[in-house]
Amino acid sequence: MQTVDVGELAVSAYRTVAYEETARRNAGEESFRDGDFVFVHDPQPAAILSFADKANAKRVWRWYLDTSQPQPETWDYVAKFVDGAGRPDRRLPRRFPRDGKERTIMTTRRWHGGQLRWNTESQAWSILAPGRQDRPHVSGRAGCPFCPGPGEDTPPETWRLPDGDGWLVRTVPNRYALSDRHEIVIESPRHDWDLSTATVAEAAAVLSAWQTRHRELRAGAAQIAVFRNHGPAAGISLAHPHSQIAGLPVLSESARRNLEVTREHHARTGRRLAEDLLAVELSTGSRIVSADEEIVAFSPFSGTANYEVWFVPRTPAADFAAAPRSTVDALARALRTVLAALRGELSDPAYNLVVHTAPTGYEDAPFAAWSVRLAPRLEIAAGLELATGIPVVTVAPETAAARLRARIAPSLVS
Ligand SMILES: [Zn+2]
Repeated sequence: MQTVDVGELAVSAYRTVAYEETARRNAGEESFRDGDFVFVHDPQPAAILSFADKANAKRVWRWYLDTSQPQPETWDYVAKFVDGAGRPDRRLPRRFPRDGKERTIMTTRRWHGGQLRWNTESQAWSILAPGRQDRPHVSGRAGCPFCPGPGEDTPPETWRLPDGDGWLVRTVPNRYALSDRHEIVIESPRHDWDLSTATVAEAAAVLSAWQTRHRELRAGAAQIAVFRNHGPAAGISLAHPHSQIAGLPVLSESARRNLEVTREHHARTGRRLAEDLLAVELSTGSRIVSADEEIVAFSPFSGTANYEVWFVPRTPAADFAAAPRSTVDALARALRTVLAALRGELSDPAYNLVVHTAPTGYEDAPFAAWSVRLAPRLEIAAGLELATGIPVVTVAPETAAARLRARIAPSLVS
């Protein structure tokens, strides 16, 4: 029997016939046109106001949308009716999971040998991963599973650069994975290699691995975390230089809030928040650590750690994985330069380096922006942070930036 896939066709027909025609018909109703306010509580009747030529009442939009599994096409389709109807205050929702039911106080989702547990108070997920306790702790070359040679012991490789014999960078599944898509980027065959002393080509190869594996792993994941830990205080268990890429099935609270804030800023100003932040940093100047025509590194005005540095592209874009080669090369240069300065200033401190980038489905969002953020681990978060969630920074970012600048270009600093 011959079958025809009518999926796309059916969706398109539903949109134009069922959805828009119903809205058009309902727009003819007199009942809401004479009101002072029109409340739209659901995407379902959103299009009505687009077809109602006399609907001059104030509109109030109040929707709950589940964004844990984003469907950008659907959002774009519905959003055009909202954008055409005024200036909605679009806030992303907090509460409703994919099944549409409110979460109970102890909601869990079984996940990859562990659990996702929902914290009702903070409205955020936590990960319970007992298997991670079994990770080996190896600092020296002896017994290192990532060093090439007879002792090498990793799951089958997923990618390498360059392709073929010998390699600069390779990726393997994480044996102690946090998710079904969690890979290790082995950044060099050399156990004593470091990003701060790397050549630009070596550093760019690591960034290229982050981009390539990010694109590969994001299908089916709500967001991808890319991070590099350096030093025991930053959480490393294997000293061999490596970074990690992990796909998560849910949006983190910080990613969700970032979408909400940046979307609101863009709706209000027409610009990305990152664009405005960078403009202020460039005009102020005192927190700039390094800058070239592609990448600006600065200590954030209100940061979370001493000597924190953000690396941002001069041309903001949502998706780190799509950054062009010239930007990646500039980022590689900036990273090694700033890391070398940090190493000199603070005697090789532990740090976490993370990529902030648009969650899956938001890669083309006009409001989102990627950045790479370096947070040294110099102090242990103490009682005040735990009690209030407010980070305490004891070195002013202006001071940190001046000290790092002096190490990068001593001749330019008076
Ligand atoms: Zn090694």
